[in-house]
Amino acid sequence: MKINRIAHLGVAVSDLQSAIDFFTGALPLEVTHSEEYGGMKIAFIPIGDSSVELLQDVSGSSAIKKFLDKNGEGIHHIAYEVDDIEEAISELKAKGIKLIDEKPRQGAHGMSVAFMHPKATHGVLMELCQPSKDCH
Ligand code: ZN
Repeated sequence: MKINRIAHLGVAVSDLQSAIDFFTGALPLEVTHSEEYGGMKIAFIPIGDSSVELLQDVSGSSAIKKFLDKNGEGIHHIAYEVDDIEEAISELKAKGIKLIDEKPRQGAHGMSVAFMHPKATHGVLMELCQPSKDCH
C-alpha cells in the first residue's frame, strides 16, 4: 500500500454557509467544489496539497447528523490518499484491522472511499480514498 498525502480533513459543521463564510472571509481560501451527497451538503476548500471538506447534514439521518448530536462541530475524519484502494483494503484486512467498509464505495467528488473503524485507528475516523482524475 502506498499513502501519498492527507487528501482532506473532514469537518462536521452545523451551517455550511457560515463555515464557508469563515474559511473564505476570515481566511484567504476558496471553495473549489461543492455538492450534495449522502444526505449531506459538502464543500471542498483546498489548502496546499490537501483540502478541508466541510460537511453539513441535510437529511436528518446522515453520519454527520449523528456526529454533531454526539460531539458538536469538529473534525469528523482524516482522509488518506492511496494509489490503489482495493489493495489497501486487502492489506489492512490481512492485518486484522477493523474496517467500516470492506469494499470501496463511491464517495464525494467521484472518489472511491473506504472508512476504517475508529476503534482500530486510535479514535480518529480514517478514510482511505483513491482519487478520480479530477480529485482534489
Ligand atoms: Zn472525506
